[in-house]
Amino acid sequence: MIRLNSIQLKYNYNCLKTKLILIHRDIHIANSIHALKTYRHSPDIINKSIGFVPTMGSLHQGHIELMKTAKLENNIVITSIFVNPTQFSQGEDFDKYPRNLQKDLDIMKSSKAVDCLFAPSTDEMYPLNALCHVEPSAFSNILEGKARPEFFRGVATIVAKLFNIVECSTAYFGQKDISQCILIQKMVNDLNFNTKIKVIETIREADGLAMSSRNAYLTSQERAKAAILYKALSQGKEFCEKQESVSRDVIIDEINKVLLTEELVTRIEYVSIASHIDMTELNVVNREKGAVISAAIRIGNVRLIDNILVGDANRILSDS
Ligand code: AMP
Repeated sequence: MIRLNSIQLKYNYNCLKTKLILIHRDIHIANSIHALKTYRHSPDIINKSIGFVPTMGSLHQGHIELMKTAKLENNIVITSIFVNPTQFSQGEDFDKYPRNLQKDLDIMKSSKAVDCLFAPSTDEMYPLNALCHVEPSAFSNILEGKARPEFFRGVATIVAKLFNIVECSTAYFGQKDISQCILIQKMVNDLNFNTKIKVIETIREADGLAMSSRNAYLTSQERAKAAILYKALSQGKEFCEKQESVSRDVIIDEINKVLLTEELVTRIEYVSIASHIDMTELNVVNREKGAVISAAIRIGNVRLIDNILVGDANRILSDS
């Protein structure tokens, strides 16, 4: 009787395993650092160019575009899904951040762009005895860093760890998180990583709202009004392009004016007019030299960020 049960259990387990392998037979899944390294160093992969797309999951078209670009430019694409606790402040939405591995696997599979998914555990990525991290000090007091002082350290540290584990040729990031792109480019240069960084233009919904996993938190009423952020930034950009040079205060006023027309905008956290080299704030925007215009607002309780590039700042997309 006992023997029958164990055979039955084994049979069920094998059926389940076969089913999973069949469903995702094209995507190799590595749930640990060791599994990823074994895959990365296997004879079929070791000499191939590797495109890497780090994500926190809850995938949408913005992520897919990164994966497809990576696939066009590399032999093998590795994507990671890791909801990184160190870039959330206390009381932020870490626990309720959307997680659905099965759905993400289906999306990755239909993209036909991903060869391997790296989905490590938090315990393995952050062992209790860890001592070191990457501290981008100049960033700790700007934009996201102002409201969440540990944010940029969290981003730089996890990306450095992922780069060391994955050993990719090129890593792909979205313009949607522009300060993160500029930070990672700085980190790679400053610390001599052997990784090229590519930045892909923000993918938007039809009304201009930047695609984001957090858009799912918007009520239908809030969603209908959320494109106000892109509208305001576009107005700021248009204003900069009309004149040879414009002072930051005038641009910020222009953007605020548009945002304040929408009563569902409950808070304007920041509007930033910054250099595309290092994200330092600019007093004046020269039409040619350009700027990164970015903002974070709340619609109801949902925090939305977005940015737009003016003049030479567009080089972030072409140079990378
Ligand atoms: P996340 O999962 O939100 O950490 O994002 C993973 C990567 O996808 C980051 O490089 C993001 O900048 C990028 N990304 C997120 N949303 C978009 C979007 N709408 N368009 C392009 N890239 C995006």
